[in-house]
Amino acid sequence: MSSKTGVLDKARIVLSTGYVCDNCLGRQFAQLLTGFGNKDRGETLRKALAFEQELKEDKKIDKSNFHDFKFRQLKTKDSKKKECHVCGGIFEKIDIIVDKCVFELKGLEFDTFHVGATPTEELLKNEEVLWEDAGIDFVESIKTEISREVGKKLQKILKKEVDLKQPEVVVLVNLEKNAIELTINPIYIYGKYKKLKPMPQTKWHCYECRGLGCKVCNYTGRKYDTSVQEKIEELILKKTEGIDTKFHGAGREDVDVLCKTNRDFVLEVLQPRKRTIDFKKMEIAINKKYKGEVEVKDLAMVEKPKVQEVKESKKEKTYTVIVSLEDDIKKEDIKTLNELLGTINQQTPERVVHRRADIIRKRKVLSITSKFIEKRKIEIEITTEAGMYIKELISGDGGRTRPSVSSVLSTKAKVENLVVVNIG
Ligand SMILES: [Zn+2]
Ligand SMILES: [Zn+2]
Repeated sequence: MSSKTGVLDKARIVLSTGYVCDNCLGRQFAQLLTGFGNKDRGETLRKALAFEQELKEDKKIDKSNFHDFKFRQLKTKDSKKKECHVCGGIFEKIDIIVDKCVFELKGLEFDTFHVGATPTEELLKNEEVLWEDAGIDFVESIKTEISREVGKKLQKILKKEVDLKQPEVVVLVNLEKNAIELTINPIYIYGKYKKLKPMPQTKWHCYECRGLGCKVCNYTGRKYDTSVQEKIEELILKKTEGIDTKFHGAGREDVDVLCKTNRDFVLEVLQPRKRTIDFKKMEIAINKKYKGEVEVKDLAMVEKPKVQEVKESKKEKTYTVIVSLEDDIKKEDIKTLNELLGTINQQTPERVVHRRADIIRKRKVLSITSKFIEKRKIEIEITTEAGMYIKELISGDGGRTRPSVSSVLSTKAKVENLVVVNIG
């Protein structure tokens, strides 16, 4: 059938396939006229065809399609109502589906949502068969109509907004599984942390078993039993009833390095059932519970793009480092450390080269002051561009970092204590 076939002729073809409900009839003309629902379209077309039917009966049309019309002229036997052979009567069951959705959403805190649908194989097949007969010029899919009809009703009942782009919750009407499936999108919490005790920034699984538990990790599945992430997430997970978090830091320190200045982060909370947090209270609670270990401030709800922004932020960093030396130096020797000002060539450190590309980076030392403590110990305060491997700047990493504290002092040098004291 071509698009030149008239609307009523097309409607006749649709109704000749068996009983077709108003929604399914109207949906074949969804792209004609706006301001109507498919049910309206179907009703209108059926009425028009009923008029014509009375004037001149079209025997091909399945009589059940006019079961609730009372004809004056047409001598036809009363016909019983049948189930729509396209949708199986699903549009009469929309309220039941909506009730199920409301039930599943109970207790879930959200403002925006979006409804999707997965029709059964059978529905999709029925639709295809109908399209083969009646064409697809002005159609809409049954999947779209179910989603929209459920969405409209839910919106009314819940008084929440539909958001197609970034909904907080996606409600999937899975007809194949006869289930309502929820996808609860994450929330993103920005903040700044200080790390006052040695620990990794993020959860760290055991390398041997990757978290399953083995002899090496004493069946804990862990390499370290805590982390900045876990200390920050604990009370937040409790409050939001989320199932897990992802931690996005603006760079990181090694396990043994403290961060006594504020480092930006975004905590992504997965599948939160609650989305309102009193951040002032939360800050106080976290800081009280983990006093002397981890400190947070400026907690705030942010949008997803903040993750990228925080991760990509390139800020200068200042460290204080206690360095131990293999050979004795004299007090005046520490002046030679000024030679480190300027560009440092840093080849990917030995300790990370197995998981990073082996390349040479150029990073600048922006300022350095040093203090002689004793003949084999000095203290340095050093500011560098983002991305400097600071331990290697001290040790020289077997010549992979040049120049280094070790090379300018002509002795082996090792970090004894390292603290981040300023970022940005
Ligand atoms: Zn139908
Ligand atoms: Zn293990």
